[in-house]
Amino acid sequence: MLDILRRIVQEVSSVTELSEALKVVVARIREAMHTEVCSVYLYDPDTKRYVLMATEGLKQDAVGKVGLSSSEGLVGLVGSREEPLNIDNAPEHPRFQFLPETGEDPFLSFLGVPIIHHKRLLGVMVVQQRDSRQFDSGEEAFLVTMSAQLAGVIAHAEATGNILHIPKTPSEPKKSTRFTGAPGAPGVGLGVGVVISPAADLSGVLDKEPESIDAELARFEQALDGARDEIRMLGGKLKGKLRPEEMALFDVYLNMLDDNALGAEVKAAINKGNWAQGALRAVVMEYVGHFQMMEDVYLRERATDILDLGTRILAHLQGNEVENDTDDYPENTILVSEELTPAMLGEVPTSKLRALVSVKGSSNSHVAILARAMGIPTVMGAVDLPYAQLEGKTLIVDGYRGLLFSNPNDELSEQYQAIYEEEQALAEDLEGLLHLPAQTLDGHRMPLWVNTGLITDALRSLDRGAEGVGLYRTEVPFMMKDRFPSESEQQEIYREQLEMFSPNPVTMRTLDIGGDKSLTYFPINEANPFLGWRGIRVTLDHPEIFLVQVRAMMKASEGLNNLRIMLPMISNVSEVDAALHLIYRAHVETLEEGFKVEMPEVGVMIEVPAAVYQIRDLAQRVDFLSVGSNDLTQYLLAVDRNNPRVADLYQAFHPAVLQALQHIVKEAHAEGKSVSVCGELAGNPMGAVLLMAMGYDCLSMNATNLPKVKSIIRGISREWADNLLSEVIGMESGDVIASTMQLMLEKAGFGRIIGPNVTG
Ligand code: PEP
Ligand code: MG
Repeated sequence: MLDILRRIVQEVSSVTELSEALKVVVARIREAMHTEVCSVYLYDPDTKRYVLMATEGLKQDAVGKVGLSSSEGLVGLVGSREEPLNIDNAPEHPRFQFLPETGEDPFLSFLGVPIIHHKRLLGVMVVQQRDSRQFDSGEEAFLVTMSAQLAGVIAHAEATGNILHIPKTPSEPKKSTRFTGAPGAPGVGLGVGVVISPAADLSGVLDKEPESIDAELARFEQALDGARDEIRMLGGKLKGKLRPEEMALFDVYLNMLDDNALGAEVKAAINKGNWAQGALRAVVMEYVGHFQMMEDVYLRERATDILDLGTRILAHLQGNEVENDTDDYPENTILVSEELTPAMLGEVPTSKLRALVSVKGSSNSHVAILARAMGIPTVMGAVDLPYAQLEGKTLIVDGYRGLLFSNPNDELSEQYQAIYEEEQALAEDLEGLLHLPAQTLDGHRMPLWVNTGLITDALRSLDRGAEGVGLYRTEVPFMMKDRFPSESEQQEIYREQLEMFSPNPVTMRTLDIGGDKSLTYFPINEANPFLGWRGIRVTLDHPEIFLVQVRAMMKASEGLNNLRIMLPMISNVSEVDAALHLIYRAHVETLEEGFKVEMPEVGVMIEVPAAVYQIRDLAQRVDFLSVGSNDLTQYLLAVDRNNPRVADLYQAFHPAVLQALQHIVKEAHAEGKSVSVCGELAGNPMGAVLLMAMGYDCLSMNATNLPKVKSIIRGISREWADNLLSEVIGMESGDVIASTMQLMLEKAGFGRIIGPNVTG
């Protein structure tokens, strides 16, 4: 069964059109279950009706025409109950509804299962049989499994369909589609999708109408010749190194090209009105899909060969292309790619770049780090995104929440346009805001610091009135290199940060790698990286790396003395003791080398639930504490902060998170130690209000958010914030807390600063 399932899913995945995918599904399931009818009814939430979208066994004329309201028929019953219905005499069932258009009256047996994706009912899948019999439990299990697997494929195809949907009349509402990824860089961007593919990535090639079909045919011929020469050349080079059986592979390749099959099909596709690249992709992918379904392992492997061949031809086609002129990019470009690279960033003039979207990667990918430094709103890891379809589409990127909207409706566009304008206005107002203190109406001072990584970040932060650096992520410069930077190289990098902010403090975190942050030259492969060798655990195991880094920091601070050192991922007091021991040693060594530096303040990050319960023990050992609310939230809620599938569960305002935060500040103050927050929550205007009310001494955030937080703090009183905190702290749901906060701040006139509460 698993094998059949795998093959059906594979076959369906290679089809891009929803209707085609459903046709394949019903045909294969009917065949696999040896039944007479298999149909899929999709639910349309706008009309609240189930529409027959594909069938094998019922009349084809009925497809797309026959529908049932959600309260009608057995299909409606399966949908509303959201569970299978397995009966041996359907017409006798009180909910049976006869649909003459389908010609279904002779079918007695009925098995229907709901198709559900991420709690959303997409439709109902039905198998029917003429004779009266109950489908057995194995058959029922098969259909349930099939439906669960296909829900994702259908949802994906449906989203693609929505993207391609063009309203037939101006009054027809736009189908806005939301995709979830991970926040890569804060900010919002509205614009037009520009999709870029790597040098030769077949699956990312778009369909396009050619200007001249003859010219495309000629280009394709030329590329075929090029690929032929290349394979001959490669084969020739390997002669003598490969065994004759293996050499035969090259003949197979050449045969595939010579045998007119592939070439003829691509040419036919070009003649139908696609450019050479698009036609090549369509044909090759179809072949790949067929081969992948083969029972025979050897034949399945051929799919790889065909893909390789297709990619080679594509490279030749792309070699023929003229380089894209930078003038070609629209004024409001939203750059979309399967995997964005820093080089791709350089292709678009920054003045035209509004936002970035990458299907692969996380907030720690190089491109996201650069985007944060440059202030370009970015969404990473949007795994379900049919990115190739986004060319020329109207898009909104919400880099705060990691969301992307295609074809946004007017209301959504207006809301985001308002945030964008507010951000622009705040940016223009910076001059005015820059020298004003972050102080509430009743005189409470709330120091606002920044998080940095690259020098560009630091420069932007100064422009935005940062009073210090609460988190300098030292792994960022490490990630930009192809080996560990030497002590003197590090010293130079750190000096720049310290000088730039002097006399204000700069909190340098010791190397925090592991988890999702890796160095190409120090790979860590683990089954559970977030629970593995991360942060302080790595550096305590490698004192040579730790000592070099701490010495470089201390040397860099000579004459400035504005350095603070912070330890990430602490889950045991013994780690703090061991790290302090090394830091003292580094200090002595630095003094011995003749540097005149004071012992810096040392602090601990509170990121692991265990540390929350040992605040006092930790605080007694160090000078300050800083809450890494990103990791603390992920570990408290057991939700991977980069996994879009569970993004809804990653609730910054979860009661458990808020109670932990309140506990931390109380305990730290009881020990007389200052405590800050340097996770994203501190830069969230609503979060900042709550944290101030809890009594945090300092908030450290990305430079983009700093002016927003400052203007909100300057617009409220501490008393108002305290009241808000006492109102929400006892609530039992994160969603309710977030919407209460949203409402209260909107009422207080900060709606434009906090942005819309986007759930739809
Ligand atoms: C955090 O975990 O909140 C934090 C600030 O550290 P990072 O995001 O770099 O893990
Ligand atoms: Mg962290």
